[in-house]
Amino acid sequence: MDSTLHVAIVSSPGMGHLIPVLVLGNRLATHHNIKITIFTITTNSSSPEIEFLKKFNEKITVEIIHVPSVDISHLIDSHTKLFTQLRILVREALPEIRSGIASMNHRLDALIVDIFGTQILPIAEEFNIPKYVFHPTNAWSLALFMYQQVLDQEIEGESDDVMDPMMDRSDQQYHEYLKLTMEYTCFDGILTNTWEDLESETTKALRSNEKLQSVSYCPIYPIGPLRRTVDINEHDEVIQWLNKQNQKSVLYVSFGSGGTLSSEQIIELAWGLELSQQKFIWVVRPPSHGGTDSAYLNSNGNDTRGTFDYLPEGFLTRTKDMGLVVPMWAQQVEILSHLSVGRFISHCGWNSTIESITSGIPMIAWPLHAEQKMNSTMLTEELGVAIRPRVLPTKKLVKREEIQEMVRILMDTKEAKSIRENVKKLKISAENALTKGGSSYNTLCEFVKNIRTS
Ligand code: UDP
Repeated sequence: MDSTLHVAIVSSPGMGHLIPVLVLGNRLATHHNIKITIFTITTNSSSPEIEFLKKFNEKITVEIIHVPSVDISHLIDSHTKLFTQLRILVREALPEIRSGIASMNHRLDALIVDIFGTQILPIAEEFNIPKYVFHPTNAWSLALFMYQQVLDQEIEGESDDVMDPMMDRSDQQYHEYLKLTMEYTCFDGILTNTWEDLESETTKALRSNEKLQSVSYCPIYPIGPLRRTVDINEHDEVIQWLNKQNQKSVLYVSFGSGGTLSSEQIIELAWGLELSQQKFIWVVRPPSHGGTDSAYLNSNGNDTRGTFDYLPEGFLTRTKDMGLVVPMWAQQVEILSHLSVGRFISHCGWNSTIESITSGIPMIAWPLHAEQKMNSTMLTEELGVAIRPRVLPTKKLVKREEIQEMVRILMDTKEAKSIRENVKKLKISAENALTKGGSSYNTLCEFVKNIRTS
């Protein structure tokens, strides 16, 4: 009989989910010799996830099963929040995943689902497969998830400035979020994309805090940082441009796979970059008229208007020797690892945060949605690796003068020096966690051992 372990991972829609799932799958396959099957749930046949997989396919050591895209248009309306849409998308894809599992020749030894896939519980139970959640972000947000059912009972009214779905109890996303957090506590264990040293207090609390233990006694496995490896294409125009710049001179600006800004904010940001007179690479998307996550499910799609007419008049001409404006999508890991890049304006998505830290790059924290406000607080107040605007960018316009000032602060002030030192220490701590004998390395071994013996 084949004694190779077989593990399936279900990835929710969105590049911020697919990328770390692929890294996790590859790591389990190559370091632990496990057969990995990844179910990817996408929104349509030209989804960014599928395009991404086509380019990276040859380096992937796992089997990918594309779950055919499901049409959920009859289940949502123009007010349905992204969080709810993602829950519905995964819910509607479950019958397909169930038949995929039922028809497998090699029985599954474990099933891992990422954040929106927790609805799979009845299927895991039906087939009697050990089930784990992959929480693609940090331990701090995980602690909040685990405790949400208590907060729901104990706190009246709204929780402002925490995680988006928690903020409005009258919206469907609050109820989807509450269900999701309750499902979390029913799994056999939770893998999280952080490492002990980065969040030692929180990981300790998750394991031994009485209040948290009263909700669920669920083993926690901090196995991060999961970051894809650099794959430089020397013919890439952006890389060629970076090759010509001075060391650490370039500011990279990006709001993740789907973050969008208002027209006014794009104009202020453009002026801020121009006034700062620093080299930059800016990944731009057309302005949003609604939320800040409107491009999330179509992140490397085309800018259908094909123009940059939302940028200030003459901006591209005036800054042509200063910066590069890249529409929709850039090779972020390759850019952040390039020696010419020295700073990052980031929406603080957890993958971007990890990619910045592991490249030793200080940040200007510009949170937009999901748990990004929490991440920005952690980066500025706790870890000291970022600065942030005085106003919350989702509430007020960040003005050009402040943007110019933040870029200057990260250049050559005393504060910049201490931020650079802090991020350098974290970079080393991340490397240590992953090397043989390091905390995340050991934790992943322990996880595999537990699957083997379960
Ligand atoms: N990404 C990229 N190019 C882009 C925008 C995003 O490669 O132009 C990648 C980025 O490196 C990260 C992921 O997409 O791995 C985004 O995940 P994150 O958690 O930062 O934010 P989200 O997109 O989920 O809000």
